[in-house]
Amino acid sequence: MSEIDTLALFDEIRPIIQERSEDDKEKIKRAFLFARKLHEGQFRVSEEPYIIHPVEVAKILIGLKTDTNTVCAAFLHDILEDTETSSETIKEEFGEDVLNLVQGVTKLGKYHFQSKEERQAENFRRMFIAMATDIRVIFLKLADRLHNMRTLNFMRADKQKRIAQETLDIFAPLANRLGIGKIKAELEDLSLRYLHPDQYYEIVQLVDQTKAEREATVKVLMNEIATDVKASGINAQITGRAKHYYSIYSKMKRLNISFHDLYDITAVRVIVDNVTECYEVLGLIHSKFKPIPGRFKDYIAMPKGNFYQSLHTSVIGPKMRPLEVQIRTHKMHEVAEYGVAAHWRYKEKGSQKADKASDMQFSWMRKMVEYNQDMTNAEDYVNSVKLDIFSDQVFAFTPNGDVFDLPKKATPVDFAYRIHSDVGHKTVGALVNGRIVPLDTKLKNGDIVEILTSKQPAPRIDWLNFVVTKQASSKIRQWFKKNKREDHVELGKSNLEHELTKAVFDEYMKNNSFEEVAHQMNYQNAEDLFAALGYGETTLSKIINKLKKPEKKAEQIHQTSYRRNLKDDIIGLDGLLYSFARCCSPIPGEPIVGVVTRSKGVSIHRLDCKTLEDVEAERFIDVKWADKPSNKLYSTTIRVETQDRHGMLKDIIAAVSDNNTNINYANVKAKQNNIGIIELGLELDNIYTLRKIINTLQALPDVISVKRIQTSYSQAPQQFSKKNASKKTASKKKKN
Ligand code: MN
Repeated sequence: MSEIDTLALFDEIRPIIQERSEDDKEKIKRAFLFARKLHEGQFRVSEEPYIIHPVEVAKILIGLKTDTNTVCAAFLHDILEDTETSSETIKEEFGEDVLNLVQGVTKLGKYHFQSKEERQAENFRRMFIAMATDIRVIFLKLADRLHNMRTLNFMRADKQKRIAQETLDIFAPLANRLGIGKIKAELEDLSLRYLHPDQYYEIVQLVDQTKAEREATVKVLMNEIATDVKASGINAQITGRAKHYYSIYSKMKRLNISFHDLYDITAVRVIVDNVTECYEVLGLIHSKFKPIPGRFKDYIAMPKGNFYQSLHTSVIGPKMRPLEVQIRTHKMHEVAEYGVAAHWRYKEKGSQKADKASDMQFSWMRKMVEYNQDMTNAEDYVNSVKLDIFSDQVFAFTPNGDVFDLPKKATPVDFAYRIHSDVGHKTVGALVNGRIVPLDTKLKNGDIVEILTSKQPAPRIDWLNFVVTKQASSKIRQWFKKNKREDHVELGKSNLEHELTKAVFDEYMKNNSFEEVAHQMNYQNAEDLFAALGYGETTLSKIINKLKKPEKKAEQIHQTSYRRNLKDDIIGLDGLLYSFARCCSPIPGEPIVGVVTRSKGVSIHRLDCKTLEDVEAERFIDVKWADKPSNKLYSTTIRVETQDRHGMLKDIIAAVSDNNTNINYANVKAKQNNIGIIELGLELDNIYTLRKIINTLQALPDVISVKRIQTSYSQAPQQFSKKNASKKTASKKKKN
């Protein structure tokens, strides 16, 4: 096709945008010329000039009567991907709205929505809608797909199958959900042609062969009712047609019968002016032909979820063969063909009735997602055409392509429990898009999440601080209720001690306050209350609010309770505020020393910490670990050098987690000479556990070395702030 010929492509557009304003026509023409120039020299697989594709997509969208910006976006929809054009240029030339549409459809193009199972397909469709953000992006994508399906014969056979399957699983149901029956039927028929060509061509042929018969049937029906219809003053259009190929195919498959046993492939459609006439015509037909019981459906009184309306009935037709009849108004017919898109048609006509219709029609959106929020102004909602209906959801994949819908802010732990509670309980780490992430990471649409598990279940109570699904939190609580009661009594107690300070806690213990609160909250005794707090069934604030106000002196302590209580873990400080040095992160059981800082009390270092070399002798202070082990966890970092082997990281994480230790950070460093370096941030109780872990790791095949490391933090000891310390020692969160 020559240069001049591609210009001529616009001749097919001109007549179908005739009704639009001059400005709109000018803009559409500009979009065409812009795209034509950019796609110049590009060709489709069919060897036609590329611009034919955007032109065809635009024609489909004009057929749906979408707004002018959508039509412009249709011309431009492939230029971000396939040409050098920048977003700014599109914005300058056609405005932000068009740019958003083009970007929206480009983004969706990056995903393959093929599913292996029906139950997954539904999630894909919802994810697709969630990602589209603007309903017009879905129109664009459907039109794009429709033209690609129409020209699929130029593709390689394996691609044909994949694209056809995706179309059948995702795009045809979407078109159906949006009520665009016309596109849905064509997508299904085209998919069938590539997925099951033998059956497809057989059906095409048979439908063709029975055409004369079908026409005769319709003629008989028309003759039978024509007089009565006329006598009632009804203006009715009666047409007879075969159902579309895919619906014939699926019926044959569903009923396991051959084409010739499938008697009702013909559907007669009667279109009238108003609803009353629909029922009148129904009466007339039923008076001439015996209705088949149980086949009448009133979708006028009870519209379908995609707001389809019609009367359906089946009667014993001419030659005693069953015949399906659909009766609807012109407006209902338009809705059946164009679905949501029909909204623009009404809007253009600007009638009052139309607004009502769209109000009714958009109920599908609410139904679709149980969107319960009160819609005070449906017109506003429609005008915004934003699909924020799924904005409270996130869709994430497993590595083998299953997709789960989760609430917004869901984390890998929610994801793990969503897969199975066993997986949840055994979670020790997560890879998102191939990278290790903290377990409280918020998942994003399209994330691929791999859950790393240990052999033994070991959920963590602090997960309750960030999981957002009920499923996860209740499973975690259930587990802790059943397991480790003593631990949770201890944990609950120490959380309270930590929050109230030991002195205040002891005070309350002495005067039985906790017993009282326990009874108020329907627990048997204080121990049950502590356990409940420990496994997260109740919260610190709930308990503290019920406690009697502390004495004045106690209150002061209470207010400064963010300071670590000295009796918790260190002896020898005698009332001084202290924190753990971030450079060396000491752990109970190993030699330590205190360094007096200028403003932050005492900083606790490992005795062998390198930063101590420059500290003046008079600032050292002797300290030692408290004898009674606290149930706090302490942070430290180890570095593991390994042979670069697939699955290594998983083995390491599993080995660590089997030792009752939390991994709060993992970083895989760049590999050199097939040596992998993995840094793990650990939270554990004491040096003996750490040594055990190091020994375990060293025993793993392919592990070259395991070292505890100092962080690269290089500031002088006196600079360590409380913030650093609390980060390093945060085993329990105060927040609740
Ligand atoms: Mn395209």
